[in-house]
Amino acid sequence: MDRRRFLAAGIAGTSLLGLGSVWSQASPNYGLPQLPANGVRRVKVGAVEVIALNDGAVRRPLGDEFVRNAPLEQVKALLASQGLPTDYVDVPYTPFLIVSGNTRFLVDTGFADNGPPTTGRLRANLAAAGFQPQDIQHVLVSHYHGDHINGLRGKDGSLVFPNAKVHVPAPEHAFWMDEIRASEAPAAMRGAFENVRRVIGGLPKEQVATFEPGQELVPGLITAPAYGHTPGMSTFTVRSQGESFTYLADLTNIPSLFARSPDWAVVFDMNPEMARLTRRRVFEQVARERSLVGGFHFPFPAIGRMEPSGGGWQFRPVA
Ligand SMILES: [Zn+2]
Repeated sequence: MDRRRFLAAGIAGTSLLGLGSVWSQASPNYGLPQLPANGVRRVKVGAVEVIALNDGAVRRPLGDEFVRNAPLEQVKALLASQGLPTDYVDVPYTPFLIVSGNTRFLVDTGFADNGPPTTGRLRANLAAAGFQPQDIQHVLVSHYHGDHINGLRGKDGSLVFPNAKVHVPAPEHAFWMDEIRASEAPAAMRGAFENVRRVIGGLPKEQVATFEPGQELVPGLITAPAYGHTPGMSTFTVRSQGESFTYLADLTNIPSLFARSPDWAVVFDMNPEMARLTRRRVFEQVARERSLVGGFHFPFPAIGRMEPSGGGWQFRPVA
């Protein structure tokens, strides 16, 4: 893994990953993001239930930094061709609950009370789905960006899911917890390293379990490497009775941009070239298999299928 490249590429995006200052940016006010009236959506995958639980969204002015390798006019043209606004993008955050018998796995966490005011809705949506935080026995973490892990711990330090074992990808954990790398990190990335230490580093040791991406965590729940967005990001696939669901994490940010035009690089991808190759490989597979997919930043209900479209893919949400 090319560590210098990860560090250099990560700088631009890091401060935008739920670490504070971005939320007070003095950009034009485009209003509040669109939030789903009902932030709970259930689907059956064989004998397993998968529940999308929205944590909120932010509205982000669309500047020319958002897509690194395409001119802003092209980006706006692709949005306009889909009838979408071109001055801003809404970025939703949707963790998923996997319910298999009496076992409940929460996949990524949102912000809890650490994020902007239009986030932190996971707890209410979990309750609306019939669950309390203490009912969660396992939290699966795809990668260590703030919007995916900060919901593990309240602003006051308390553990949001006190009974949960937290499963993390070993290469992701090794990257962010490396003391030398943290001490050498460029100033713009220091906050991200500190955040990982606050949220994950402070967990009781027996509560954290690392897995190697590719490993089957329990029968029918398979992890897979999806490196590039971060050094150790993992996807999660549920297989039951011939059906499947794959949680794509941040394989792509806004699918109307980066699934349709998969070679474009979002500012948050730490290794854009690796992320691009991973994106093409995984989208090709889930489209060919007609697998249900879930995307953390996909428009709610955030569950659907990927269909080939032009040189890329289009997200078709479930009805
Ligand atoms: Zn994310």
